[in-house]
Amino acid sequence: MENKIKTKIICTIGPSTWDPNVLQELINNGMTVARINASFADADEIKRVTKLIRSLSDKVAVMLDLKGHKIRISDFGEPKEVKAGDELILDTDPHTEHIGVSYENLHKDISVGAKILIDDGKIHLTVTKIEGTKIYTRVLNSGLLKRLKTLNVPGTYLSFDPLTEKDKQDIQAGIEAGVDFIAGSFVRDVNDVNAIKERIMGTNIEIIAKIEDPLGVKNFDSILENVYGIMIARGDLGVELPYEEIPFLQKEFIKKCRSVGKPVIVATHMLESMTANPAPTRAEVNDVANAIFDGADAIMTSAETSTGQYPIEAIRVMHKVASFIEPHTKYEEYHTINDKISYYNQKNFDDADRAITIAKAGAQACETMNIQSIIVFSKTGFTARILRQFNIKQPIYAFTLSEDWARKLALSKGIYAYAIPSLSQNRDEAIQQVINHAKSIGIIQSGDLIAIVIGSQVFAGVNTSTLDLLRVA
Ligand code: PGA
Ligand code: MN
Repeated sequence: MENKIKTKIICTIGPSTWDPNVLQELINNGMTVARINASFADADEIKRVTKLIRSLSDKVAVMLDLKGHKIRISDFGEPKEVKAGDELILDTDPHTEHIGVSYENLHKDISVGAKILIDDGKIHLTVTKIEGTKIYTRVLNSGLLKRLKTLNVPGTYLSFDPLTEKDKQDIQAGIEAGVDFIAGSFVRDVNDVNAIKERIMGTNIEIIAKIEDPLGVKNFDSILENVYGIMIARGDLGVELPYEEIPFLQKEFIKKCRSVGKPVIVATHMLESMTANPAPTRAEVNDVANAIFDGADAIMTSAETSTGQYPIEAIRVMHKVASFIEPHTKYEEYHTINDKISYYNQKNFDDADRAITIAKAGAQACETMNIQSIIVFSKTGFTARILRQFNIKQPIYAFTLSEDWARKLALSKGIYAYAIPSLSQNRDEAIQQVINHAKSIGIIQSGDLIAIVIGSQVFAGVNTSTLDLLRVA
C-alpha cells in the first residue's frame, strides 16, 4: 500500500500492450484505467480488450474513447515528400487517386482560404480551389506526408451529426462489453454530450468530455456541468488553438473541474519521445510533474503504451515522477469557484452542501491530527471526490456499494476504492463491518487513528453526513 501513488494513470491499450504480461506490468505500476482508442479499434476489439482487462483485474476501469469526427487522410502507401508552394489535392471521394479524406462532406463545409493542418499540425495547407469532391490546397511548409495522419480544420464549422455510425456501433459494443467510461471526442457543446447520454441511458457508464477544439473551450462550463469528468486533450487542442495557450488552459480547466469535484485528465504527448526511446526527455518529466502540481486527477499515455516500443518503461517513468512529486504538493482548501447550483442537481443541493462540510471537517482532521487514513462510505462516490479536492496526504479508502461505483473512482486522485455490496443498514454495524474488512485486506491496522466519513445516501432514509474519528481496536 505505502508505495501506491495517488495520481491515476490511464494507459491507451494497443499492439504494444495486448500481451497480458505487459498489461499486468502496467497494472503493477499504477495503471488504474485502460483506454481503448476507437480510432484504432472496432466493436470486436472493444469487447476483446475489455474482457482481457477484466480477466486481470476487476478494479481497473475501462474507458472507451470514441473516434468521433477525427478526420484522417487516406492510406496512400509510402510517405510523400511535400514542399512549400506545392499544390496538393485532397479528395473526399473514397475511390480517389489523390490524398483521400475520411470526412465525406469536407468539400461542402470548407471554403477557399481555409486552413488545413495535417499530422497534428506538422503540415499546413491553405485551400485554393474546390471542385466537386476535390479540395485543392497550397502547401505552406515542407515536410513528409504520412498515410492515415490526422487532419484538422480550425475555424471551419463542420456540419456533421454529433455521432458517426461508427461511434454509435462502438457505444453499443461498449455497453455490451461493460465499459466504465465513454470519452466523447471533439465535444463542442452540451448537444454533443447529450447525443452520447441518450445512448447510454439505463447503464452505469459515465461520460468524459474531451476538450480539443475552440468550441469545446468556449462552452467549457456548460459541458462540465453535464459530464462526469473532463479530458484535456492537448494533442488536438494544441493543433486547433495556438499551442502557447494550452498550459494556461490546462491550469484553468483543472481548477474548474476541481471546484465542482469532477475528475480531470491531462492527456497526450506526456512522454511522446518514449515511443522510440527507453528514457524520457527532461522536458517530458517536467510535463508529468507539472500536471501533478496543477492538480490533475489523472495523467495519460497514448502512443507510449499503444504502439510505442517502451510501454512499461513509460509507465514506470510516470510512477516514479508521481511518487517523488506528490509529497511536495500541499493541502488545499476546497473552493467552489462557480455558482454551485449550476453544477449540482438542484434537488441534491442540500446533500452536496452537507457532504462538502463534513468532507472539510474530515480533511482538516487529517491535516491537523496524526491520522493514518480516511475511510469514506459513499454511494455514488460524490463525498469521496469532494474529499479528494483537499489534497490531504493520507490515503482515502472509499467503500462503495458496488464494483461498478468503485471502478468509477479509478479516475480520482488519492482514492482507493473497494466494493462492499452487502453493507449493513445499521450505522454502527456498518462501521464495524468496514473496519473488519479494511483490516483483513491490510489497509488499516489495530492502533491506527482513522477518520470515517459517511455520505448521506449510504443508509436508506437516514440522510445525514457524518464524521467519526476513532482508534482502530
Ligand atoms: P486522441 O485524443 O488521442 O483521440 O486524438 C487526445 C488528444 O487529442 O489529445
Ligand atoms: Mn484528439
